[in-house]
Parts: sequence; C-alpha cells; structure tokens
Amino acid sequence: MRKFWVVFVVLIVGFGAVVYFGRDPFPVVPLPELGDGPVTLRVVRAINDRFNSLSEEEFESVLDQTARSVRFHFGLEVRFERGDDYTIAELFQLIPEPAEELALSLSYTPPPSGVSPEELISSIAVQIENGRVSTANILRFLEASIPGASRMRTKDLAESVASTWLDGLRAWQGLVAEDGDQVIDSSNYHQYAMWDFLGYGHLPFDIVVTNQLAASAERYAFSPASAPSGGQMGGLTGYSRKGQYGTYTMLSTFTYTNDIGDLTKLSPGQFLDSAITTRHAALMLTHEIGHLVLLLGHPWNNPNCIMSPSRPRLNGLSSGLDAAKCKIGSEPAMTPGAANIRYDRDLRGRLGPLGRFKSAVVAFMGGQADV
Ligand SMILES: [Zn+2]
Repeated sequence: MRKFWVVFVVLIVGFGAVVYFGRDPFPVVPLPELGDGPVTLRVVRAINDRFNSLSEEEFESVLDQTARSVRFHFGLEVRFERGDDYTIAELFQLIPEPAEELALSLSYTPPPSGVSPEELISSIAVQIENGRVSTANILRFLEASIPGASRMRTKDLAESVASTWLDGLRAWQGLVAEDGDQVIDSSNYHQYAMWDFLGYGHLPFDIVVTNQLAASAERYAFSPASAPSGGQMGGLTGYSRKGQYGTYTMLSTFTYTNDIGDLTKLSPGQFLDSAITTRHAALMLTHEIGHLVLLLGHPWNNPNCIMSPSRPRLNGLSSGLDAAKCKIGSEPAMTPGAANIRYDRDLRGRLGPLGRFKSAVVAFMGGQADV
C-alpha cells in the first residue's frame, strides 16, 4: 500500500510539473504574418478635455508624415483608418476591472520626501539582476544624474535610479495645467500601468493617440529612458488581445500642446511649434509602429536607427537617422520578433486570482516604453 502511495505521489508531482513548467505564464506575442498588401492600422484619439490637443489638421499631418516615414524606415505601406474620438474616461472604461486592480497594485505612489522608497528600489534591483535592464543602458540615460554609477553595486545603483525617478515624478505632481488644476489629478489617467493593461479589454484599435500626460512609477517594467524624466512616457507599445498583431500603441502628445512652463529637465521632448511638433510626433509614432507591427526591439548602439530609443535620436528631429545604415535584419534588435512583448496568460484567460503575480516575476511583464 505504501508503495502505491509513493508511485501515486510521484505521478501527481510529475504531472503537476509538466503542466506548470510546460506553459509560460508570460508568453511572448508571436510575430504576425503580414501578407503582401498595405497594412491598415485602426487609430483613435482619446481626449482629456482638461488639456490642449493637436488640431484636426495637425493630427492628419502626423498620420501623413508617419506613413511616409514608415515607408522610408521599414519599407512598409501603412494606411490609417480612424475611429470617432473617445473621451479619456470612455477609453479607460474599456479596461476590465481585474486588469485595472492589478495595474494599480503594480503602480507605485511616491512616499513623502525623506522616506526611502524601499519597494521601488528592490523592484529596480531585481530587474537589473535578472538582466531585464542592463547597467550600460541605465548609464546611457542617467549618466548626468548618477555620477560614478558604473562602479556602483546593484543596490546602490537601484537607490540612485529610484531617487532620480521619484524626484522627477514629484516635479510633475507639482505642475499646474492651463486650467488651473494640477496636471496629475486624482484620476489614474497618468498611470503607465493603466495604459499597459488597456489591451486586456476589448480595445478595437491598434493605435491610441492621447493628449493625456503619462508619468508615473511602477514596481515592474522599469525603463531607464523614462526614469530621468520622472517616468514620463511619450509612447508605449504593449499587448492587446484585440490588436491585429497582438499589440497596441499609445502615443502621448501632452508635452507638445500644453504650455506649463519650462519642462527642459523633465521632458526634453517639449515642442510648441506646430511644424516641429507634428514632425516629432510622426517620428515617435513611426518608432512605435516598428514595435507594433514588426515587433522590432531597441538597437541601443546604432544611432542611425529610428528604433534606437527615442529621446536622444528624435530630439534632433531625424538628423542622423539613416534607414540605409539600419536595415531590417541588420542586427538582432532590428530583426522582426525581437521586441519580446509579453502578456499575463492567466489574466488574459480569466483575469484570474489577483495577488498571484505580485512578486519579482512581474518584472518580465510589460511592453516597450518610450520617452
Ligand atoms: Zn521603443
């Protein structure tokens, strides 16, 4: 009888292991088949009426310039099919409640100045240790604010990154919009995680262009590019269950159209001139379409690439970008499928038991974030 139980337990454990280890809890969005004809991308605007936004003419100009730029950089024909504008509130209603709860549980509220942000520090340290974010990439973006960072131990580096990130975020929180209220109000529209989880709902678009500011801190998906600007995000491409390619893109035009003082330190992408604004937005959107359709990654070391992380490249408004010196397939990050945009299988399946993934493993979730 005892032998029976031993065999029984071994069988059950073995079966459990196959079930557990055979299915990646955070699978990668697979590379789509594109076919021959032009790619049609469904675009919508999501407007927060507290803030200024691009005019209709400017928005159409962004789409036209993007189509040209996508052809130039990726050799891809894209067309845009527009949906009626949404309000930001209508858009956020598309996020299923369990996805919203998880997103907010991963968002990080800065403690009062002087209190150490322990949870944020350990989350950044985990992401450095597991190789999700390399020290070299952190240095590339934070070298001015973290002297001696290359010689720091992981914990000290994570501490410096967290403090830079939260100083910037507190600065955003102190800014007042043209309507007289704070730019970051009591809504969750500025939370990156909410945008990252938007695609778990029935989002019938591939691209959302919003005049909303996205600036926040999270205990997952740390981006060295956005930390120096207080977690501000100009664009992101993440998972979408209703996306034609399993992905969706968000582009934020907030800093182009809202004059809230000198943002030089927080957001070097602030432009108020219409021609420059539309050009910059089109380059940002082109970069995101590289993630969205081709699942391209970030070629950190080739400044000719539109897919090079955007802040340093696009501020020169495309000067130095050269598609001929950054061809598709020319390096691993420029090979379609490189982006590794992941989703939470369990959340997608049933938006399952919350709390289960509130651990270091969430560091593997999330899409590509750009400033
Ligand atoms: Zn990117």
